[in-house]
Amino acid sequence: MNLIKYIILSKAIFLKQLLRFFVLGGGTALPGLFVEKFVPHILNDIANNFQGKIIVISGTNGKTTVTNTLVNIVSSNGIPVISNNAGSNLHRGIISAYLDALNNFGKFVKNDSMMILEVDEAILASTCKKLKPSIIMLLNLFRDQLDRYGEIDTIRKNWLKEFSLSYYQNTHLIVNTDDYLLSEISKSFSGEVTYYGIEDSSLENNKVDHTIETCYCNCGIKIDKFARYYGHLGKWKCIVCDNQRTKPQIYASNIQQDNLNLKFDINDRQDQELKLLNLGVFSVYNYLAAITASLFLNIHFKQIAHALSQEKQIFGRQETFLVKNKTIKLFLVKNPIGLNQVIQTLNTLKKKKLNILFALNNQIEDGIDVSWIYDADIEMIVSGLKNLVISGDRADDLALRFTLGGRKEFIVEKNLKNSIDFIIDLSAEDSEIYLLLTYSAMMKYRKYLVKISGGKPFWAN
Ligand SMILES: [Zn+2]
Repeated sequence: MNLIKYIILSKAIFLKQLLRFFVLGGGTALPGLFVEKFVPHILNDIANNFQGKIIVISGTNGKTTVTNTLVNIVSSNGIPVISNNAGSNLHRGIISAYLDALNNFGKFVKNDSMMILEVDEAILASTCKKLKPSIIMLLNLFRDQLDRYGEIDTIRKNWLKEFSLSYYQNTHLIVNTDDYLLSEISKSFSGEVTYYGIEDSSLENNKVDHTIETCYCNCGIKIDKFARYYGHLGKWKCIVCDNQRTKPQIYASNIQQDNLNLKFDINDRQDQELKLLNLGVFSVYNYLAAITASLFLNIHFKQIAHALSQEKQIFGRQETFLVKNKTIKLFLVKNPIGLNQVIQTLNTLKKKKLNILFALNNQIEDGIDVSWIYDADIEMIVSGLKNLVISGDRADDLALRFTLGGRKEFIVEKNLKNSIDFIIDLSAEDSEIYLLLTYSAMMKYRKYLVKISGGKPFWAN
C-alpha cells in the first residue's frame, strides 16, 4: 500500500512541476485532486508525518489576505512556509501545498517548515479532525444577502460541535472576540484561547448599516452591539444573561487613516505603532489576526512591523497604480457588506471630495444577480463625490441605483479604456482615484492599469 502511495505522490509532484513549468495555473489544485482521489487518507498522513506547526485559517471574510500576511511575516523571519496562499482552500489545495514538503519520490523532507493553510469554512471541521492543527484561527462569520438558506448557521453549528471535543486540548485557538457568532465556540474550546479585537472609542459611532440583521443570544434575547466597527463586529453583550465579549489580549487602538495609509497601535502602545498600505477597518481586523498569530509564535513585534513594512501588494486587493501623476487604488466589491465597508472607509478620507469609477459586471464569477446593489448604502457616499464614472456590463443598473440614491451627475461609459480616460481627465492633478470593481471587472481593469502605469505598481512610503 505504501509503495502505491509513494508512486501516486511522486506522479502528483511531477504533475505539479509540469503545470508550474508551463504556467498552467501554478498547479494549486489539480495535483491535489489527483492524490485525494487515489490516497483518500492523505490528510491523516499529513498529520502523522508533518513535524512542524500546522496553522489553519478560516472565516467568511479575509482568509486569503490573513494567510498571505502571516506567510509573509513568518517567512521573512527565516522560517520556511508551506501554504496554499494562492487561495485554493479545499482539500485538493491543501494537499497540493503539502506536495512542496516532499521530495521527488514522495518522501517527506521539510522537517523545519510550518504549514499555514487557508481552509474553506464549510470543510473546516472535517479538515481539522484529520489534520490536528497546532493553531486554529477563526476570523469571522458573515452572513450576506445570499445566505438565504441558513448556510452560516449550519457552519457555526458544525464548528461548535467539532471544536468542543476534548481532543483539541493541545490546540491553540486564535479568535476574533468582536464576532459574537464565534463566542460560544471559543468558550467551549478545550485548549488555550487567544482573543483579538478592536478597542477604539473614536470608531464607535458608526451610522446604521442596513445590511446588519438583528442578532440574538442563545438565551433568546436580542444582542446589544453597543459599539460596531465593521458589519456586525464590535463590542457586544447580552442584556439579560452573562454572555458578553471577552476582553481581547491583543487589540488595535488609535486607528487613523489618510488617503493611502492606515495607522494603528497594538495594545495602546505607541512603540507598537504600525503604518500600513491597506485602508479600512476590515483591513485592521485582517492585520490583527496575522499579528496575533505571529506574537503567539514568539515573533518579536519589531520583526512583525518590519515584515509588514516590506509587504507586497496583494493582487487586486487595494493595489495602487500611478498614472499621469494620479494615484489609482483598486477596491474589489462583491456584496453589500463589502461595498458598505468600502463606502465607510472612503467616507473617513475627508481631505477632498472623491473621484470614483465604479464598474459592475455580472459574469458567473461576479454573480449574475446584481440586485445586491440595492442592499448597499449607496446614499452614504453620494454627498462626498466629486467625479463619478459608471462602467461595466451592468452600468445602466448602477446608474439607476445612483440616480435613486440622489446622484444625478455621472458619466456612463461601458468601454473600459474610455472609462479610465474619463476619470483620469476629470480628476485634478495629484489627486486620488478609487476604482470599485466586481471580480471580472477587476481582472480587466488591473491588466489595463499594469499596462498604462508602465507595469510598476505604486508603493506608498
Ligand atoms: Zn443572553
